[in-house]
Amino acid sequence: MKLTRLECAEILTDLSFRLSRFKVSQPGKLYNFRCPFCGDSKKSPNKARGYVYEVIDKNTLAYKCHNCGLSLSFEKFVKLLDEEYYQKLLYSKFGIKNQENENTKTNNSENYTKALKEEETRSKFELEQYCVSLKKLINSSPNHAAVRYVEQRKLPESSYDYLYYTDNIKKFATQFYPDFKKSCGEDARIILPFFMEDGESFSYLQARAITQSKVSYYSMFVVNKRSLKSRIYGLYKNPARYDRIFVVEGPIDSLFVPNAIAVGGSSLEEALDLFDEKRLIFVFDNEPERLKKYGKDINDLVKSGFSPEEVVKILNENVYSGLEAELMYGRLYT
Ligand SMILES: [Zn+2]
Repeated sequence: MKLTRLECAEILTDLSFRLSRFKVSQPGKLYNFRCPFCGDSKKSPNKARGYVYEVIDKNTLAYKCHNCGLSLSFEKFVKLLDEEYYQKLLYSKFGIKNQENENTKTNNSENYTKALKEEETRSKFELEQYCVSLKKLINSSPNHAAVRYVEQRKLPESSYDYLYYTDNIKKFATQFYPDFKKSCGEDARIILPFFMEDGESFSYLQARAITQSKVSYYSMFVVNKRSLKSRIYGLYKNPARYDRIFVVEGPIDSLFVPNAIAVGGSSLEEALDLFDEKRLIFVFDNEPERLKKYGKDINDLVKSGFSPEEVVKILNENVYSGLEAELMYGRLYT
């Protein structure tokens, strides 16, 4: 069952008496109320972080809660909010009789837990099919600003397959967060999904500015359930097969080195949890002494003409490990 934007709006008005602090922010486009599923804030009865919002280009509405993170299609939202209403709707609109067996009927709280659990990751396919204003870098015209950017930074072509871009970061981000940083610009950005080992699924992404911007990276979860390892970049390279794993700060830097991962939006502890500590070698940006003679970071090395093999060699000779790494770690991250 797929409902149009106007049908959704009508149904929502119908159901609004069930929604606490219901407010029409923009008729037919944006509605705000307390999340009926998690109850929103228990302490503050004024907090309302549930949104029904317009899915641009799809002529429909969808639901997102900024407290519990639940995100649902409008149809699922109705089903979860009021199963009976939903079944009647199916019947009156589409002539579909309740197919669910009475015995297997689950209650709303079970449904809620299930819905939250369902969305641990998104797939590459979903990303490519459903995200508005998102394009795969590999398919883009060589003249596009994003392509010129990765060329100028000399990113290895093997990485293009894992990179996307959007022409409008705000339009892209508001799909997941209807009120995404109101001050956010509308610039074009490279999108880096943090793919898991399968190279297909992910739950977190970063959007890298390609022009001068105050915020170089925007980071966001694009699913409900926030799994720990999802914020490490480079798991799709299967780094566990290497004896040494370089840990860098920025995802872009990690693209240059086959056995490098980036802590991106996470902390080093997350990397330590995933891999054997002894195999991890930390490489920090603006590292004061040792890399300085080559440049301020890995990308600088590449730009000044070092091959990936030479970069790996330099890294091997200029590493932090053991106590030294702990000292650096302490200095940078506490
Ligand atoms: Zn909620």
